[in-house]
Amino acid sequence: MSHPHDHDHDHDGDHAPPKDEGAGDYALLEQAMRELLIEKGVITADGVRRMIERLDEASPATGARIVARAWTDPAFKKALLDDAGSALSAFGFGPMGKFIALENTPDTHNVIVCTLCSCYPRFVLGFPPDWYKSTAYRSRVVREPRAVLQEFGLDLPDSTRVVVSDSTAEIRYMVVPMRPRGTEGMSEPDLAALVHRDALIGTAVVAPPSP
Ligand code: FE
Repeated sequence: MSHPHDHDHDHDGDHAPPKDEGAGDYALLEQAMRELLIEKGVITADGVRRMIERLDEASPATGARIVARAWTDPAFKKALLDDAGSALSAFGFGPMGKFIALENTPDTHNVIVCTLCSCYPRFVLGFPPDWYKSTAYRSRVVREPRAVLQEFGLDLPDSTRVVVSDSTAEIRYMVVPMRPRGTEGMSEPDLAALVHRDALIGTAVVAPPSP
């Protein structure tokens, strides 16, 4: 069965205005394809611009806000875990394909990877870190997730099951980390400030607030 990655490594991003000097093959291909799709009325230049703006604005802070909302709003959390794509319309996201939020619990720890290239939920996490795209991470995290997580400084109890989910061009994941102790009564923005990128990928957990 073929892996559904019929795209270049910079899918979801790097659509740039016309490139002139020194444009590589992929840039020329992108430009030709974009101009053709606009000419045929499949997409509009304005739509491309809006998508670039959304991608430029996306950062792990977006994912952190989503997690803080899930921690404080049980109805939103249920909707997010049931159908993340629909629930995120509350955050102003348009259709984003199949998108799944994976909840970490004391029993199950989720980690995301793209074993083939670098598929990543850019609309909610921004651009992936370099290590996410590295061959070492992509190949090792599926074979020996605990060893890789230990290298990130994360020691999970033996009783916790580690689940690695492989992102593709069609399915993207984000991790909803566990809410740390000592955060009862904290506001949603304060909670969001605790949540960082690696916890949304699953290579870290969210630490309790420092006293
Ligand atoms: Fe990929």
